[in-house]
Amino acid sequence: MESVLEDRARIGVPDAILLEDYLNESVFIDNLKKRYQQNIIYTYIGQVVISVNPYTDLGLYTEDCLEKYRNVNFYEVPPHVFAITENAYRSMVAETTDHCILISGESGAGKTEASKQVLRFLAATSLHRREMDRVRDRLLQSNPLLEAFGNAKTNRNDNSSRFGKYMDIEFNFKGDPVGGHILNYLLEKSRVVHQEEGERNFHIFYQLLAGAPDELLEKLHLQRDANNYFYLKQGESCTVDSVNDRADFEAVDHALDILSFTTEEQEAIWDVVGAILHLGNVAFKADDDGLARVKDETPIVNCSKLIGCDKDVLRKALTHRTIEARGDIVTSPLNPEQAVYARDALAKSVYERVFNWLVVRLNHSLESPESGRKTLLGILDIYGFEIFDKNGFEQFCINYCNEKLQQVFIELTLRSEQEEYYREGIEWEKVQYFDNKIICDLVEEKHKGIISLLDEECLRPGDATDLTFLNKMNSHLATHNHYFSYETSDNSKDEFSQKKRPVTAATQFKNSLAGLMTILMSKEPSYIRCIKPNDDKRSYYFDEERVSHQVKYLGLMENLRVRRAGFAYRRAYEIFLGRYKSVCPATWPKYNGPAKDGVMAIVQHLGYHPDDYRMGETKLFIRLPKTLFLTEDAFQK
Ligand code: ATP
Ligand code: MG
Repeated sequence: MESVLEDRARIGVPDAILLEDYLNESVFIDNLKKRYQQNIIYTYIGQVVISVNPYTDLGLYTEDCLEKYRNVNFYEVPPHVFAITENAYRSMVAETTDHCILISGESGAGKTEASKQVLRFLAATSLHRREMDRVRDRLLQSNPLLEAFGNAKTNRNDNSSRFGKYMDIEFNFKGDPVGGHILNYLLEKSRVVHQEEGERNFHIFYQLLAGAPDELLEKLHLQRDANNYFYLKQGESCTVDSVNDRADFEAVDHALDILSFTTEEQEAIWDVVGAILHLGNVAFKADDDGLARVKDETPIVNCSKLIGCDKDVLRKALTHRTIEARGDIVTSPLNPEQAVYARDALAKSVYERVFNWLVVRLNHSLESPESGRKTLLGILDIYGFEIFDKNGFEQFCINYCNEKLQQVFIELTLRSEQEEYYREGIEWEKVQYFDNKIICDLVEEKHKGIISLLDEECLRPGDATDLTFLNKMNSHLATHNHYFSYETSDNSKDEFSQKKRPVTAATQFKNSLAGLMTILMSKEPSYIRCIKPNDDKRSYYFDEERVSHQVKYLGLMENLRVRRAGFAYRRAYEIFLGRYKSVCPATWPKYNGPAKDGVMAIVQHLGYHPDDYRMGETKLFIRLPKTLFLTEDAFQK
């Protein structure tokens, strides 16, 4: 007994539900800190795993560790992302239901690292090891490839995801992984042409320059030093201590082979990446009429060679604008500033297309050769919430995406959970929480949300500008509690240049998020909530104030309160009876009565403690996972 108490004093409790003073935030944070100081980064709130970024390799993901979490019950092993993955996987196989693992937290909190471990665990879940090697390798190799093109060094994170990623892993009825599918969300393409101080462009550019063999660089007319390229050097930090671009290039090269990209496809990828670098070096000067002239021909020539386009055509495209007005095609010359804008727009759009094509191509490689019904386990890893001094259209989208994800969490863990108790006639004292729906509405509501107002401005012919948009928002939203007027200059330029398009980028993003929400809501979710312990990427340093801020906006205390008072599991009587009828003589081998009575008989036969469960209208509620696991054990025997 003493040692249990000592343990508790030293390493805290593995599940915050076990804290005596569970209403107190500082007790909660103190528990996380104690554990963190003992190199224990994982703690549960019921079945939600909280992960505090250690910023150092603690040896938590070795093969031994992976095996330790396989085929064991959740409550028998210390908290880990492997444990909730195993749990989701098992219930997926046992109940043939689709699951998803939702990973949230701000930039640098550890979402991508967690998602990689989840994928690793799942990819290795296979009864028939050898046949499955091919699938496993492909699933795993999708990561270095997409990270190279979609991640970058930011001031918050040396390997920051600049796109959102949802990946389904497909399993056959035996529970073997047989394929996968990736959905990608809005790449931060502005990074291709501009980086803030201390930041970099996407990794792939630096990887290519650092790692490509001499012949390849020569063929692409590229030089090794990244400082030769305008698109790479604006952040004045072409190398990153924690990043080995050369080794990473090898990894990407290897991934392309494993994913069976053909030689031609690989060459095409490098051609386009190289072409973008040359394009960025095309500079303009003004002629006597103030019109754009290309300063130096070399980058134009190199770029046009790589993309297979005539250099004169490219030059003209960069220095002129062609518009169609009532059937007439009108070409007019640009000034240098406009030409730079045209150049950058081209670079961004080419890069985005390559990225989207990579995802399509990857999905082709991950397609399952097996027909027949499959169950899915999805992993969501988005770009984390971030605030800069100046926030662009992309930050707006990134943060909006995070709000939507928080909504799923609120919806499924706080709101519907409480509503269900009410519906089922379970005695319940309501837990209050902040519902961020009001924020999502501010952004997405029809006719009066920010995106609607933006659309209206974009589609309005004539004099729409950044300023008219700002005025419009100010007049419509001034009274909204969560609206603060912000700078619009440059931010939405992209939007205004797309007047002819039927849907704006913002609406497109809104729609794709709505699609994602539908996917997530149709699956059984598990959560990994990542916390960033400090802003300095420093190991062994737990800044309580920083943590407290995240605990608040992640709604963890509310989560704990609902969990603590509530029930970890619920099963419709029919399902519970269907699975466990064989453990009880009253329901086995034959039972024809109502499902609820049958379940009651099973529960009594197994000797559930009255505090451990409630019988609702249509479902059985079980307070602790342990009870269900014991039932499962009785069933397995
Ligand atoms: P973003 O929103 O910017 O993409 P993120 O939440 O995905 O951020 P990660 O890239 O996963 O953040 O983590 C940032 C860095 O923190 C990693 O590159 C790694 O150095 C370190 N890190 C994160 N999780 C762990 C872990 N579990 N063990 C060791 N180091 C970690
Ligand atoms: Mg990430």
